[in-house]
Amino acid sequence: MTMQARLDRTLEMIERSLRDSGRVPSSVSLMAVSKTHSYKEILDLFGCSQTLFGENRVQEVEEKFPLDRPEGMKLHLIGHLQSNKVKKILPLVDSIDSVDSLKLAQRINNACLAQEIRMPILLQYNTSAESSKSGFESEDELYTALDAISEMQGLRVGGLMTIGPLVGGEKETRSAFALLRELQQTCTDRYPNLDFSTLSMGMSSDFPLAIQEGATMVRVGSLLFGERLYR
Ligand SMILES: *Cc1c(COP(=O)(O)O)cnc(C)c1O
Repeated sequence: MTMQARLDRTLEMIERSLRDSGRVPSSVSLMAVSKTHSYKEILDLFGCSQTLFGENRVQEVEEKFPLDRPEGMKLHLIGHLQSNKVKKILPLVDSIDSVDSLKLAQRINNACLAQEIRMPILLQYNTSAESSKSGFESEDELYTALDAISEMQGLRVGGLMTIGPLVGGEKETRSAFALLRELQQTCTDRYPNLDFSTLSMGMSSDFPLAIQEGATMVRVGSLLFGERLYR
């Protein structure tokens, strides 16, 4: 199957899920998760008009992407970020979608203030309480962080991100996504000066469910690029 055919298939599934749930067409953006895949494959997909890409490791971003990416190509970090790699990643990505602690937010903010930039971020929430996943673990922890983040001039909050349960069936997956949607509503009420419009949830195996539950961004890897080979 060509890259174009895989992209078309994915976009059609997104539109079908939007239609099935009575949502506005084209109201979900597709992030192509390119981890383990080559820059050549990324350029191939970019050539099919896919502009948004996601990577989960700082080192892989450094090694794989040239500093002068083509105009219009957007790259987000979607994996856990260690504090000591904050400075390194800032010039390389357009958004950090995996901010999972107040401490990390503070580190990013300080580095941004020093460089006089403002970094778009999403806050990652652990909606399934699986210990293998990072993310804020409770509403209290999230709100404590947001109380501080709302004063940080180096960050621009854009919404929330979660990874669906790795085990369990449709019911568990749905309720994890529904929880993020509810949190989005509460955050919007609590912090009227912040933007929570992005709800990044859903991967190859569960993005139709995420769209039914209100996702505005889905992160798709293997359905676009094929299976990942870890070396
Ligand atoms: C790898 C990854 C994805 C994509 O996973 P697929 O199952 O290949 O679609 C999405 N989100 C995050 C955070 C990831 O690390």
